[in-house]
Amino acid sequence: MDFIDLHAQQMRIREQIEANIKKVLDHGKYIMGPEIDELEKKLAEFVGTKYAIGVSSGTDALLMPLMAYGVGPGDAIFTTPFTFIATAEVIQLLGATPVFVEIDPRTFNIDPEKLKEAIRETVAKKNLKIKGIIPVDLFGQAADYDEINSIAKEYNLFVLQDAAQSFGASYKGKRACSNADCGATSFFPAKPLGCYGDGGMIFTNNDELYDKLVSIRIHGKGTDKYDNIRVGINGRIDTIQAAILLAKMEIFKEEIDLRQDVANAYSEALKDAVTVPYVKEFNISAWAQYSILHPQREKALNGLKAQKIPTAIYYPIPLHLQVAFQHLGYKKGDFPITEKCAAEIFSIPMHPYLKKEDQERIIEAIKTSK
Ligand SMILES: *Cc1c(COP(=O)(O)O)cnc(C)c1O
Repeated sequence: MDFIDLHAQQMRIREQIEANIKKVLDHGKYIMGPEIDELEKKLAEFVGTKYAIGVSSGTDALLMPLMAYGVGPGDAIFTTPFTFIATAEVIQLLGATPVFVEIDPRTFNIDPEKLKEAIRETVAKKNLKIKGIIPVDLFGQAADYDEINSIAKEYNLFVLQDAAQSFGASYKGKRACSNADCGATSFFPAKPLGCYGDGGMIFTNNDELYDKLVSIRIHGKGTDKYDNIRVGINGRIDTIQAAILLAKMEIFKEEIDLRQDVANAYSEALKDAVTVPYVKEFNISAWAQYSILHPQREKALNGLKAQKIPTAIYYPIPLHLQVAFQHLGYKKGDFPITEKCAAEIFSIPMHPYLKKEDQERIIEAIKTSK
């Protein structure tokens, strides 16, 4: 049994993937080839934004908008401590300061009320200039964008949606990546829509932001890459990865439904045994992970391991307690909800091709592991 079975998916579309890769080998445009343009058009339409910009990874999809907004030393960017390091890493890379905000205990996403408090406190301290917010759609469920966007408006902040785990999800009928000023996603192989290497995409409706991102993606290019009007990065997605994603996109909507079926089966069977994921009624999750809270996690994990059922912990150490952010001065106890989740959470196998009998085996193992 696999935690994420990429092979089952490949079996379905192997021919199309090979045909698409062959096309790239034939035309030879490995850098910024026509498949990138095609993918950007397709995904912008899917998400419902004016623009999509294919980039080198989910991390760069977060970094580049911050560069475009001119984020730097002295700026405060508000985000969640319960996420993958990349979310806060890009803030610090630019010399800005991540300001962590406690999460909602049920969705694990940034708590809008606590966000307001953190903004007020930061403004009162007067040592940092408040600049933007990076909410994360953890495990595939969008954060509370109506509340977050209205707070952002009040304080004149930008909102960058970290949708690395939520591509394919929707919030109040609108697709993830379209719920804020700018959305960033990842095509790391294990994400809901994954390629066969690194890749990512940025989405926006903003013309000015789009122009800057297109320039930053290729070393700050002006009219061409030898005319440099700003400092950028090598932030392109590979043509071959775009070709692979075009094949995967054909079955992506169906895969989101299949993930939902697995999540429904899990939740129905496990709701009395453990704390199952809570998805708000206006949200559709992309189910990047199916994560449960278990007060006796070690015991449960050992029980599952004995039955060769793979598990993972996202995330064992919250970002405010990571060595990389030590200089920010946070300590244990600063975010009790986050810390409790980090101590009790684990994820079980989740992918569109998880067999019914495997689902039943996983459910039984969790029920008997208490
Ligand atoms: C995976 C992930 C990223 C980074 O994406 P990469 O493509 O691996 O660079 C950023 N944020 C979150 C929440 C992620 O899960």
